[in-house]
Amino acid sequence: MTGLYIHVPFCLSKCPYCDFYSVGYDASLAEQYAAAVIRNLKHYNEAYDTVYFGGGTPVLLSDRIPEIMQNVRLQDNAEVTVEANPCVTDEKRLYELLSAGVNRISFGVQSLDADELKFLGRRHNAEQAKTAIELAYKAGFKNISADLMLGLPRQNTKTVKKSIAELSQLPINHISAYLLKVEENTPFGQMNIAVPEDEVMDEIYLFACEELEKNGFTQYEISNFAKSGAECKHNLKYWRCEEYVGIGAAAHSYYKGKRFCVDRNIHDFIFSDIQNTVVTDEAPGDFDEFAMLKLRLAEGLSFAQCERFGTDKNTILTRLERIPEKYYRLDEKGVSLTKEGFLLSNAVIGKILGY
Ligand code: SF4
Repeated sequence: MTGLYIHVPFCLSKCPYCDFYSVGYDASLAEQYAAAVIRNLKHYNEAYDTVYFGGGTPVLLSDRIPEIMQNVRLQDNAEVTVEANPCVTDEKRLYELLSAGVNRISFGVQSLDADELKFLGRRHNAEQAKTAIELAYKAGFKNISADLMLGLPRQNTKTVKKSIAELSQLPINHISAYLLKVEENTPFGQMNIAVPEDEVMDEIYLFACEELEKNGFTQYEISNFAKSGAECKHNLKYWRCEEYVGIGAAAHSYYKGKRFCVDRNIHDFIFSDIQNTVVTDEAPGDFDEFAMLKLRLAEGLSFAQCERFGTDKNTILTRLERIPEKYYRLDEKGVSLTKEGFLLSNAVIGKILGY
């Protein structure tokens, strides 16, 4: 089954660490953008089982999302997610989303510590984040996720513990916890912001994993944790190497056996009849790519899947002999990485692939 990703490249201001494609919000540009999304949807004759509005700040488009969704054919019980910022989430927007059939909302909380939020240049404070989550729950959202950022300068296990403890008191069933990466083309990159030393990063990551587990969020991917049954079905498609259509400026697709992307240019997207795509991979989904993605998941890589690509169990077992046991878990079905393995995932996966 195919997923649908819609990129909404509008934000109220740019966070200094962010390199996602977005421009300043403008109501008339947003209207033209929504019309272009609808035009493009008509070129794909699919019924989707997951839809994900990512950004940017998609909740800014809440008044257009009902019309966009009228043009999306859904499978029964489809998961429909919208990313939201606490500072622009109010009852009106939440009801617009619910009326469009959105049934999952993902908040960019990042931290509940005042200094960390200030450092990240976020427009919301901890109270606003909590209020937005409560409001979403009261409005009718039962699937609510929050993003958390780890590895900030001066962050410590105390502040991480506090953010996780307070988030856990809220009606959420999913948390994504990402390590801060300073990208060159961002203000943080230009300011040469230094992330903590590797050992500190490792300590914070392992600590956060444990705290999240203690609070009932089971790790199912390197950076993703969920209560039972609340894993994000759309994002699971990426890691299981399944197909999805991407619509919008800077959107990526894996569709009909090819990977392609749309230019990071909102005007080009708005003024073209059909979005201009560039093929980035003519033949994706080989064993290396499949294994690399599957090993990001706690479910790992099964030997049956390896055999399907012509790599037998013994080859994998021989390669595992070169890797310290604390980095992986092995059973009769296959192999998966431990938390320590997730921390060194590139190196460990490289060895499992025979590099
Ligand atoms: S982090 Fe989110 S809100 Fe901040 S600029 Fe990036 S997309 Fe916009």
